[in-house]
Amino acid sequence: MAEILNGITTSKAIKSEVLARAQALRAKGTEPRLEVILVGDDPASAIYVKHKEKDCAECGIKGSTRRLPADTGQEKLLALIAELNADPSVHGILIQQPFPQGIDTFAVTGAVDPRKDVDALHPENVGLIALDRPRFLPCTPAGVMALLDTYGINPKGLHCVVVGRSHIVGKPMAQLLLARHATVSICHSRTPDLGAITRQADILVSAVGRLGLITGDMIKPGAVVIDVAMNKKPDGKLAGDVVFGEAEPLAAYITPVPGGVGPMTRAILMQNTILAAERCVER
Ligand code: NAP
Repeated sequence: MAEILNGITTSKAIKSEVLARAQALRAKGTEPRLEVILVGDDPASAIYVKHKEKDCAECGIKGSTRRLPADTGQEKLLALIAELNADPSVHGILIQQPFPQGIDTFAVTGAVDPRKDVDALHPENVGLIALDRPRFLPCTPAGVMALLDTYGINPKGLHCVVVGRSHIVGKPMAQLLLARHATVSICHSRTPDLGAITRQADILVSAVGRLGLITGDMIKPGAVVIDVAMNKKPDGKLAGDVVFGEAEPLAAYITPVPGGVGPMTRAILMQNTILAAERCVER
């Protein structure tokens, strides 16, 4: 039976450290502040934004959300980003994805002041991550790394297989593992015989978004299984890519969904925001 990698308890420890840092900043007269922009009415995005507001409250960060209608044009969105960039009381800016159609993701992420880009998606910040000199850590991959570290799992020399190559999860996940001296394979939708690769994984990270994609026969006994995905089951409950009931008896460690990577991602966002505020005070 696998040991559960508990993202709830681990994220609480990170958030309490963030709270202490926020209190120290407040004592010096700075109120750390995160502004989230939500365009449109995607129900999942609305839930994620609510979670962020709750996290901010728990961490002593002033968090607010600018809600814009789905038909907001790109120019209007860019104007709001410029306003927040120019506001010295705003330390972190996050634009909730996915964006409605007609909005160019590259243009929008590139418009955020890189020093306020707590989601680490600005091209300059993406480049710094690729160069192993991150200004901000990518939230989900860094959350996974923090979870591995908490449980004493060192990826050095291990074969890590990342399924998914998105800019937000798969690619930066592979980069962080590589920076920690893992041997990394990246799989995607054009990878033939996915199981042949995942069965080689000492650490398997699945970030696809397909319920039941990773079955027990695709897992090496004793592997560490990290399920990043958040899929809705027909009953409305959340589940990952991994068939938990098949993987759990085989794996050495496994993340649950929910309660695994999700809370870790949110904790790293709080950590990035406090870092942005601290740097602002230092400038
Ligand atoms: P994404 O942009 O849609 O990327 C999905 C990736 O999976 C793509 O690289 C795609 O390959 C690959 N893929 C699709 N079908 C595949 C298949 N049959 N076999 C192998 N690879 C396949 O998604 P994302 O934004 O990275 O998110 C992935 C999942 O993580 C989603 O469920 C999302 O909700 C969840 N998520 C969770 C957190 C968290 O905090 N827990 C944070 C972010 C995202 P191609 O590149 O070839 O299309």
